[in-house]
Amino acid sequence: MRKFLTYSRNVFIPVTDVCRNRCLYCGFRRDEGKIISRKEATELLDKGASSGCTEALFSLGEAPWLVSGFGDLLKRVGRDDLLDYLIELFELALERDLLPHTNAGLLSKEDMKRLAPYNASMGLMLETTADVEAHRSSPGKRPDLRVKAIAAAGELMIPFTTGILVGIGETKVDRARSLQAIKELHETFGHIQEVIVQPFDPKPKTAMSHLAPPSPEVIAETVRMARSILPKSVAVQVPPNLADPLPLVEAGAEDLGGISPVTLDWINPERRWPTPEELESRLAGWELKERLAVYPRYIDLGWHGKMTWSLVKKLAGPDGLRRRDLP
Ligand code: SF4
Repeated sequence: MRKFLTYSRNVFIPVTDVCRNRCLYCGFRRDEGKIISRKEATELLDKGASSGCTEALFSLGEAPWLVSGFGDLLKRVGRDDLLDYLIELFELALERDLLPHTNAGLLSKEDMKRLAPYNASMGLMLETTADVEAHRSSPGKRPDLRVKAIAAAGELMIPFTTGILVGIGETKVDRARSLQAIKELHETFGHIQEVIVQPFDPKPKTAMSHLAPPSPEVIAETVRMARSILPKSVAVQVPPNLADPLPLVEAGAEDLGGISPVTLDWINPERRWPTPEELESRLAGWELKERLAVYPRYIDLGWHGKMTWSLVKKLAGPDGLRRRDLP
């Protein structure tokens, strides 16, 4: 049995909390949303770079350009196209030796094609293939659209992160179906590097605040299910700020995702990241190894964005993980 776990040291850049969806569990989206300024982004990126991070995680609400008033926010940063602004922020990250990984919700294939050259990898949670009440006001959460977008990323050969959200009204059978759909996408395109098993975390002032999160047993059962359905080449990831990682690692999880020494998890701001030292103590017996935003297999294949090639070469050791001799 493998006795090491991977994680990525990242800086989390919340680009905008404007989103065209209204997921009933969401604590991130705001009606009066904002967009990060260049100055704020640069400060965060500088902090990340000086703390030894290798990844800049860019996260934003889905298709914010469909929300009235977003154009005015964009004007405040001197842009009329969010993708142009994102590319500018990616360049700031790359200049600081940080590899962009973008999670922008549902994007068209054309939009992914524009962003991919600057990204070491990209992501889109499938969440579930079931039709759940939590998504009744979220047109972008239609499972067929999410599957299509993940397939488009595969056609573009983008190393990809996806995952399922556990406890939003789906059943155990639904979870198995969602994992099966991801498996089939990977079998067709070979681009899924990791699958997150993410527990629903009730947020105050949301429609689902009164619901209980899934039990530790259900999360562990889902990790076991993911490990048995997904091909071995796809890592099962669990977020250690949302669940005790020990039983999940024992159930087969191999990756702890992005852990930031400098920023909050802006999606779950009340859930502090454990430090690598705390994780090592909790997960005694497992060695923690730091990886990049792109997994070794996709470095070998050269699938990550062209603008990231020289930086990946600089940061990756012979095993494709983060070089040990970097500060
Ligand atoms: S898509 Fe994401 S940001 Fe938008 S409402 Fe749903 S959970 Fe929130």
